[in-house]
Amino acid sequence: MAEQSFQDLKLDSWILKQCTAIGVKHPTSIQASCIPKILAGKDCIGAAKTGSGKTLAFALPIIQKLSEDPYGIFGLILTPTRELAFQIADQFAVIGKPINLKICVIVGGMDMVEQGIQLSKRPHIVVATPGRLADHLESCNTFSLSKIQFLVLDEADRLLSGQFDDHIKTIFKVLPRQRQNLFFSATITDALEKLKEVVEVTKTEVFMYEAP
Ligand code: ADP
Ligand code: MG
Repeated sequence: MAEQSFQDLKLDSWILKQCTAIGVKHPTSIQASCIPKILAGKDCIGAAKTGSGKTLAFALPIIQKLSEDPYGIFGLILTPTRELAFQIADQFAVIGKPINLKICVIVGGMDMVEQGIQLSKRPHIVVATPGRLADHLESCNTFSLSKIQFLVLDEADRLLSGQFDDHIKTIFKVLPRQRQNLFFSATITDALEKLKEVVEVTKTEVFMYEAP
């Protein structure tokens, strides 16, 4: 297959400029496959090994959609570890700088009150580990997730391996049924089985991509 370009993926030129600035010139295969489907409104389950650029595969289309229609907390990204949460937030921050993207990281080991204040300021993107976000929802929460447009499960296989089930149920209860679900992981098989139980598979066609 000929090398694809970001221009072919219907991304705005300002986003391409941000990509170029960080040395990202050609989309990886999971990006080339998933970005147009996400922009077209489909749910997406993508699997490819670590280091294949899964973060930008969801971050770029979410930022583009958000730049067209910012409203409250737009995207919720769940990931299993604090370290991953900060890495994901960094990539959103770099790409979203020209539109003053507001990102809030909600992970354990940090001050709950301060996090509550940050959440009340209506960030565009919340990147969270499930346990701490569930803690916020169960205490006096200062924010609403009822209008999110995108739910991302990053490292979905790990998130759905069992240990996060209670937290994820708490979170899913407050999410709108109408939303785009984006699930990314290194493998899809087990996670998919779990998804049927945990998520009420909502509306749209699901696009599935598994790296060769
Ligand atoms: P994964 O989630 O699949 O493990 P990441 O999204 O963390 O991978 O990306 C790994 C690294 O590759 C990051 O440093 C990211 O900036 C870089 N990267 C992502 N997409 C591209 C691309 N199209 N070209 C070059 N580097 C990229
Ligand atoms: Mg990743």
